[in-house]
Amino acid sequence: MSDLTIKNLHVNVEGKEILKGVDLVLTQGEVHALMGPNGTGKSTLAYALMGHPNYEVTEGEAWFKGQNILELEPDERSRLGIFLAFQYPVAIPGVSVANFLRSAINARRKAENPDDKGIPIPEFRKMLRERMDLLRMDHSFAGRYLNEGFSGGEKKRAEILQMAALRPEIAILDETDSGLDIDALRIVSEGVNALRGPDLGVLVITHYQRILNYIKPDVVHIMLGGRIVETGGADLALHLEEHGYDWLREKHETVSA
Ligand code: ADP
Ligand code: MG
Repeated sequence: MSDLTIKNLHVNVEGKEILKGVDLVLTQGEVHALMGPNGTGKSTLAYALMGHPNYEVTEGEAWFKGQNILELEPDERSRLGIFLAFQYPVAIPGVSVANFLRSAINARRKAENPDDKGIPIPEFRKMLRERMDLLRMDHSFAGRYLNEGFSGGEKKRAEILQMAALRPEIAILDETDSGLDIDALRIVSEGVNALRGPDLGVLVITHYQRILNYIKPDVVHIMLGGRIVETGGADLALHLEEHGYDWLREKHETVSA
């Protein structure tokens, strides 16, 4: 069992401090929700954890399996078992979903063993079929070009399938709250619920409580002004739905957000 333990994380974006000391423990085997108003730094946290070059870590640590992942390259973080589903996935015309996934799996195998010849095609196909069945996806989806002409829901489907195929131990799902229609919401939720288990820790980043009607979180964290100001159970999200963020702003009046 490994937890992701974030300590006093400070991150600058274009010279401006956005994260001002984030403390958060994401436990493997649990689903945590990260909520907070727009512009508070939720996506910044996700990008900093994956090592995006525009997000400059000025202070703090993030420990996973005995390593401070902030000192690792993005591909090393991925190989360690951390997965980030992008809020705005890019299209790769000419590359099918299946080929993309096979390349990702092979890159990981090759990094572990330079002599690796890649996953045998029959084994890959079998794995992909099993994972697609688990997510109740039509098999024809694997043959489509990644994200090209995909609806919002299909892009989410592709991300969830990626997660199912790569089997991360920590998954960070950053959601476009405004853009997520009910279909996409259901896909993400059902996918997360299907993959939920003792080996997976999930951080669902969301602006609205809505998605949490489908994915029952074990823990809810609230970010305000670049810090986690409140951590609680699923009822905390319901409280937010009813009362908004103002009571928290008042409680933490020193925080500007
Ligand atoms: P959230 O995901 O909670 O809505 P973000 O992490 O996206 O918040 O943004 C936090 C703040 O950082 C915002 O003020 C946003 O304008 C700024 N920011 C984030 N990313 C960038 C970027 N790439 N360039 C400039 N400013 C950014
Ligand atoms: Mg965001």
